[in-house]
Amino acid sequence: MASWVESSKTQPRVVKLLKNSIRKQRLAHAYIFEGAHGTGKMAIATVLAKTFLCRNMEDGNPCESCPNCKRISSGNHPDVHIITPDGQTIKIDQIRGLQKEFAYSGMESSKKVYIVEHADKMTVQAANSLLKFLEEPGADTIAILLTEQVHSLLETIRSRAQTLSFTPLPPQGILQKLLEDIPKPIALLASSLTSDYAEALEICREEWFAQARAKVIQLTEDLRLRPDYCLVVLQDQYLSFFKEKDQLRLALNLLLIWYRDLLSIHLSNSENVVFFDQLQALEQQALHTSQKKTGEALQAILTAQARLRSNVSPLMVMEQLVLRLREG
Ligand SMILES: [Zn+2]
Repeated sequence: MASWVESSKTQPRVVKLLKNSIRKQRLAHAYIFEGAHGTGKMAIATVLAKTFLCRNMEDGNPCESCPNCKRISSGNHPDVHIITPDGQTIKIDQIRGLQKEFAYSGMESSKKVYIVEHADKMTVQAANSLLKFLEEPGADTIAILLTEQVHSLLETIRSRAQTLSFTPLPPQGILQKLLEDIPKPIALLASSLTSDYAEALEICREEWFAQARAKVIQLTEDLRLRPDYCLVVLQDQYLSFFKEKDQLRLALNLLLIWYRDLLSIHLSNSENVVFFDQLQALEQQALHTSQKKTGEALQAILTAQARLRSNVSPLMVMEQLVLRLREG
């Protein structure tokens, strides 16, 4: 769950500023959170909404247990409105709907928060409508506009809001942050899959991910030691585990990392190995395969990914992949 502590790991400056404003009771009526995808804008917007509406807020922290906190966590607080693009744009009717909602007094209190995701996608009409809204803020209303392209927002809107810039973490920084809470084998693997800290953390925290990792390691062992058996158990042992397409896609990505590791060993770059706790197995495998074969295996995995994207059945994709990989 998003919290100030969690968010301050990636956006210390933004969190410090907001918490100061909360303590001094000087929150602005409107904020623009601008920054790249994956910098935690929505997470901080949610914590801010929670802190603002919490009934037992203490020293700038929401209690997480009052009805307001709970309803915001589950995404159904009547006084927290989130607007997202309807198709390509945010339309004027969406902003009008918001204004209508806000014309009534709050259900829980007089406080209200609205969050506009991808605010740069507002049509000109929608933006102008929102502008009127920003010009006459209710005393207890906070508007939070999220955008990856602050310069696409109307200047008039920008001048009425306080802009906070969210900075992306460098790749090494993501791993460092993950290592504060997550064991290294899992953290390293997750940070090889995404350059988005929030996403990487989410991956790490899913128990399923550690199991998937173990499954893929098992598959490489089956391929190496029991190639014929591997094909027999493909459905029962593997495809029944990687049931959804997304799960299978992840499995293929992990397999890709495994074979890249193998290539690193061929090239004597074992310090780059992601499955570092499997070094012995990788070295064993490297003894029985060539660099060229490893390159072909990587190509076969990429082909499998492409076939999966073009809707070939998962079983067919995997059968063919296993046939290709066991040759290596
Ligand atoms: Zn609370």
